[in-house]
Order: sequence, then C-alpha cells, then structure tokens
Amino acid sequence: MNHLAADCIFCKIIKGAIPSCKLIETKLSYAFLDIGPLSPGHTLIIPKFHAQKMHELPDEHLADILPVAKKIAIAIGCTDYNILQNNGALANQEVMHVHFHLIPKPDAETGLG
Ligand code: 5GP
Ligand code: ZN
Repeated sequence: MNHLAADCIFCKIIKGAIPSCKLIETKLSYAFLDIGPLSPGHTLIIPKFHAQKMHELPDEHLADILPVAKKIAIAIGCTDYNILQNNGALANQEVMHVHFHLIPKPDAETGLG
C-alpha cells in the first residue's frame, strides 16, 4: 500500500478506513459503487496509486483500469453505458484521486442496463 495519500478519501477507501461497496479489487485497482449514483450501478474504478490526474499515473496502473471496467459492464449486464473521467477542477473533478466513472444507461421502459 505504498503510493497512497493519508489525506485522500479514495486512498482511505482503498485502505478500508472508509467503508465502500466494493465490486472488484485487483493488485493495482479498486472498483466500488458511487455514493451518489447517476444511475443504478454507477461505479468508480480507481488505481491503488495516489495521483490526481490521468497523465500522472504510471502506465502499469492505467492499463489495469479498463479491463476492470469491462468485467463490471459484463457482470452487471449493462449494454449501454458511459465511461467518464475528469481531470482537474476546471474539468469538474471533485475528488482529486484519478477515477473512472462507469455509468450504466438503463433502458427507459425496462429499467435494465
Ligand atoms: P468527480 O466529479 O470527481 O469526477 O466524481 C467524484 C465522484 O466520487 C462523485 O460521483 C461522488 O459521488 C463520488 N464520491 C465522493 N465521495 C465518495 C465516497 O466517500 N464514497 C463513494 N463511494 N463515492 C464518493
Ligand atoms: Zn488518493
């Protein structure tokens, strides 16, 4: 658990100091449900490495993220979804630890993703 920051909410979630609804954990990444979901299943995938912005992340950590997102999309069965990623306050980043949003777009009639 090197590379984590003491004063970061998401680093605390990785360490288990703040509870989260975990979906998948790998050696390099951690995926959990967003506390304020934009749709059912809204998930955040984060590296186990404290960096604020995507370009500051080592390639090895970056490369682990999308396969995790792919596994979750398949597991929860969402066919339509957005992957979003904000870098910096001007780009609406609120939590300053790199994170990827997986936001399912449920079918309007069935409610299924
Ligand atoms: P951003 O605007 O930085 O891209 O998105 C930050 C996301 O983190 C928001 O969707 C917000 O709901 C989520 N979030 C902030 N604090 C917590 C928390 O303590 N736990 C969880 N599960 N999600 C959080
Ligand atoms: Zn952090």
